[in-house]
Amino acid sequence: MTLCDLSLAEARDGLRRRDFTSTDITTDCLDAIAALNPKLNAFVTVTAERALEQAAQADRRLAAGETAPLLGVPLAIKDLFCTEGVRTTAGSRILGPFVPPYESTVTANLLRDGAVFLGKTNMDEFAMGSSNMTSAYGPVVNPWTRHGDNAQLVPGGSSGGSSAAVAARLAPGATATDTGGSIRQPASFCGIAGIKPTYGRCSRWGIVAFASSLDQAGPMGRTVRDCAIMLASMAGHDPKDSTSADIPVPDFEAACGRGVKGLRIGVPREYRSDGMSPEIEAMWQHGLAWLREQGATLVDVSLPHTKYALATYYIVAPAEASSNLARYDGVRFGLRQDGSDLQELYENTRAAGFGAEVRRRVLIGTYVLSAGYYDAYYLRAQKLRALILRDFTEAFEKVDALVTPTAPTAAFAMGEKMDDPVTMYLNDVFTVPANMAGIPGLSVPAGLDSAGLPLGLQVLGKPFDEETVFAVGAAIERAAAFATLPSLRAGVAL
Ligand code: GLN
Repeated sequence: MTLCDLSLAEARDGLRRRDFTSTDITTDCLDAIAALNPKLNAFVTVTAERALEQAAQADRRLAAGETAPLLGVPLAIKDLFCTEGVRTTAGSRILGPFVPPYESTVTANLLRDGAVFLGKTNMDEFAMGSSNMTSAYGPVVNPWTRHGDNAQLVPGGSSGGSSAAVAARLAPGATATDTGGSIRQPASFCGIAGIKPTYGRCSRWGIVAFASSLDQAGPMGRTVRDCAIMLASMAGHDPKDSTSADIPVPDFEAACGRGVKGLRIGVPREYRSDGMSPEIEAMWQHGLAWLREQGATLVDVSLPHTKYALATYYIVAPAEASSNLARYDGVRFGLRQDGSDLQELYENTRAAGFGAEVRRRVLIGTYVLSAGYYDAYYLRAQKLRALILRDFTEAFEKVDALVTPTAPTAAFAMGEKMDDPVTMYLNDVFTVPANMAGIPGLSVPAGLDSAGLPLGLQVLGKPFDEETVFAVGAAIERAAAFATLPSLRAGVAL
């Protein structure tokens, strides 16, 4: 047991009690990173020196009796958040040499609250993916393995570096982003918690944009409470992002203890998809029974447009991505490949800088936005998006929250689902509807499958009602009493 085995809440409280210093816990995390990152590849950049400077500063503040919500707590930062003076790659070659001259609002908020940054975590290129296999910096290894089988598994994606780092106890918490499931699916695959808050809860300023109408930042932690603590610091109105909501940030941590007595929990029948494994179905039923035992009422609800959500997402997200990624032209940011004229410079830079999945999305996005096809694809997708939101709005007239599985499978092996992009896209079937509707969604570890891999349950809530989401998530967490260590930390060689 080292200090990096502590939960974020325990670390915060221990620092406040002066049981140990920020330098102690930061050093333990950096040692764990040095020992395990060569196996996991969870970090693209480790900022050890800077972390120790920040820790020393936090220690001076703690010694002077100062308090701040995260004073001295070490965190890992997804490499999609711009960090001033620290390379930010977005998992792409095209941003390989990019050192932002500014700090994203979310990371600035965490620094304001006293956090220490250990480094930048690996991710699918521009957050496009569900396995971390599209990173230009190599795949991330999931610290979990199946019983009796040492095949390397993916950590999920796109925030796979953050989820692997938190699960392997390299950091007590990490930032992440979720456009179609990138916080919740990797949280489920790695046996940790993660929440995508309501669209607008966290500022998007300084986060490398993928699909601006869907992107949201959120935390990953080993407990629901840890996520609540982090989100309170990350969230808040920001005049620099016109879509950030001017709504007060409630006490999320207190909400974790509220319980579910008297709550109405919706069970959407459309999430019972044909291909769902019986083990995931069983885990879902367990989760629902735990909530009923704690005083909630279960209500059958219907979200009839769920079946269109994935197709709609894979039009809207690439459309926005193709526009957002137009700025990577070799002139303003990162990589430049010269050509005989400007046009050739653009082409050479983009050909050398973007990987296959990113190119596929740019092609799809450009196609669905082109003059002849805009009405047939993009406009129809926008109409469906309104219907998906209406389904949720109607359901939330009857229930306080919804509970579903997070992902249709447990973590899969590297190389699996790689032949056909649509097979990979199916991972997002349960997570994308929340992005299309802008509502909050949390994944909480609920148990293990027969191979010993973690499975997550998803709690969806009303817009800006993360408090109920945390209350329901914490209730599932209490009943599940999920305490198994990932194989790597339980002494199994990867
Ligand atoms: N897996 C989804 C995609 O590839 C979602 C990614 C995300 O949420 N950033 O687009």
